[in-house]
Amino acid sequence: MTQAKLIDGNAFSANLREEITARVHEIRDFHHVTPGLAVVLVGEDPASQVYVRNKNKRAAECGMKSFEHVLPADTSEHHLLNLIEGLNDDPEVHGILVQLPLPKHIDAQKVIETIRPDKDVDGFHPWNVGMLASGGIGMIPCTPLGSLMMLRDHLGPLTGLKAIVVGRSNIVGKPMAHLLIRESCTVTIAHSQTRDLPAEVRAADIVVAAVGRPEMIRGDWIKPGATVIDVGINRIGLPDGKSKLVGDVKFDEAVKVAGAITPVPGGVGPMTIACLLRNTLTAAARLHRLDIPE
Ligand code: NDP
Repeated sequence: MTQAKLIDGNAFSANLREEITARVHEIRDFHHVTPGLAVVLVGEDPASQVYVRNKNKRAAECGMKSFEHVLPADTSEHHLLNLIEGLNDDPEVHGILVQLPLPKHIDAQKVIETIRPDKDVDGFHPWNVGMLASGGIGMIPCTPLGSLMMLRDHLGPLTGLKAIVVGRSNIVGKPMAHLLIRESCTVTIAHSQTRDLPAEVRAADIVVAAVGRPEMIRGDWIKPGATVIDVGINRIGLPDGKSKLVGDVKFDEAVKVAGAITPVPGGVGPMTIACLLRNTLTAAARLHRLDIPE
């Protein structure tokens, strides 16, 4: 029985981070600019704390400056917006990321809209959303960008391929679909109201799963030879009381049918942080009008 090729996000992201490190050193040595990333966390959510720590650690490893702002859960919206305005004006900060979700008393959309679009390394500001949708040059959200990089690396040009994105969230599904349209794929966007999802998935050469439902997409939904990008990260309990991470795709079934597939963990996840660093480097280069390849 054939086995799909595993698309190794750990190896891919390590290479990407190495390239970014070289560029960071180059612009530091030749242009005296050190890219800086500010990460803001409100509250004590343990998962968010781990994400923020990792983002800062990786930024520092690449030679960037990293600024961590950890605020108590009862921080007022006013205080958070003031902090962001300060970061907007800080010449040492080129990228600003506010870890989501935010506590309920804070309007996340207002916070996103306060970040300067050219420092919005998450790509969530409406200006960047519009740029992506209209084919302009803005900041591309990290998870879809990482997913696209892996697709292009594995498949080469994507022109004319049929792609399905399962999930239509603003942070993954919709930007992913826009990126695939840009690549001249024929794109279907599926969601919870889609009729006969298995048939829609079966027609696709590229499947991007961003649903948040453990192992929902089954092996017999996959077209033989298709490329599967599993964005989902779901923690499930095991009979022995322990737990493990699984994707949105039933991996042990899909791996027997697909041509290539990303594992969970070790697929899209590591690419997300690498792309955040890439966006920070891009932001620094654009803000200082440096002529380096993006
Ligand atoms: P959201 O909950 O915001 O969106 C989920 C989407 O899936 C919605 O559009 C929803 O449809 C759709 N959906 C839900 N149930 C079904 C169903 N039964 N059939 C078809 N579609 C369905 O999730 P996110 O986009 O934020 O995240 C998706 C997954 O990706 C999660 O597991 C998350 O943890 C993971 N993730 C991973 C990242 C990484 O770095 N690897 C980064 C970000 C997210 P509808 O709109 O109709 O409700």
